[in-house]
Amino acid sequence: MTPLVDTFGRLHDNLRLSVTDRCNIRCFYCMPEKDVKFQPREQLLTFEEIERFVRVAVNLGIRKLRITGGEPLVRKNLSTLVRKLAAIDGIEDLALTTNGVLLAEQAEELYDAGLRRINVHLDTLDRERFQQITRRDELDKVLEGIETARRLGYGPIKINAVAVKNLVEPDIVPLARYGRERGIEIRYIEFMPLDAQGLWERGRVLLAEDILAMLEREIGPLVEVPDSDPRAPATEYRFADGIGGVGLIASVSRPFCLNCNRIRLTSDGKLRYCLFAIEETDVRALLRGSDGDDAVAGAIRASVAAKWIGHEINSARFVPPPRPMYSIGG
Ligand code: SAM
Ligand code: SF4
Repeated sequence: MTPLVDTFGRLHDNLRLSVTDRCNIRCFYCMPEKDVKFQPREQLLTFEEIERFVRVAVNLGIRKLRITGGEPLVRKNLSTLVRKLAAIDGIEDLALTTNGVLLAEQAEELYDAGLRRINVHLDTLDRERFQQITRRDELDKVLEGIETARRLGYGPIKINAVAVKNLVEPDIVPLARYGRERGIEIRYIEFMPLDAQGLWERGRVLLAEDILAMLEREIGPLVEVPDSDPRAPATEYRFADGIGGVGLIASVSRPFCLNCNRIRLTSDGKLRYCLFAIEETDVRALLRGSDGDDAVAGAIRASVAAKWIGHEINSARFVPPPRPMYSIGG
């Protein structure tokens, strides 16, 4: 089987799988505050359809799988899907990204189903700012979820923090300290133009280099990890004192498109070759039609073949994708 290599020579072995566009909080850089239009349930792929798609993708060389959303833990019986996916031969890495609100409730069930790696999204340890960002008062539940996951033996646990300028500066150092005390890597992600309300502006991106400077000034020197995976979006750093590290995802100031190895499937079954793609392929129609797995495989190959060189956030030509983050799957 020829591997999934695009016209720029990039090998694709990584699939982001969104299982819902619903969410139990409302981060302003992702979702509108109210009147969110969710996909009708019958348009979501069933677990059987998702499993079938993943099996086809694994036959084409997909090895890494991340479950995301919307908030994946609001999808009913998620552990049933995790169990199905964890059992697929060829999956070398299965991970989940969650906002953590329902993690304390579900962590054990998910662990028993075979999940080991999670990223929890948390921008601040300050209750008021958490509420300001997410429009919900759920910080305690997220922190409880992280502690439950640690106790159960999940590893590595990482925290995703979205870096918005003039907002989260007071949180950068406390989060890094929180991570250092618990063996958790904090990954700071530059705010990207994927919010539902068109609030993004270049001036609101807290840049990776400014975050690094803050951490070095307040905590101590950081050393870039030389052997981290060059195709992973985060550049990894260790604190020179040997206690913990951080990751910087500089999607805006240092795009990493040239190393991209990812494709994405939305919860309503649309295949996308980029977070910022304008076009998408309707895989749900194929999965629900009379064509067999070869048609699905053909669609995956065609999508990878059509992949562009990279997003154009930094060019005047940039057009935001028609779907905001929660509807694509981050
Ligand atoms: N609900 C889960 C969560 O929040 O982790 C999974 C889906 S969420 C869309 C995936 C990740 O996208 C989040 O962890 C958050 O860090 C990131 N994110 C959301 N909106 C973003 C934006 N506008 N710019 C950068 N990252 C964003
Ligand atoms: Fe929900 Fe995640 Fe989007 Fe926040 S970033 S609104 S938690 S989907």
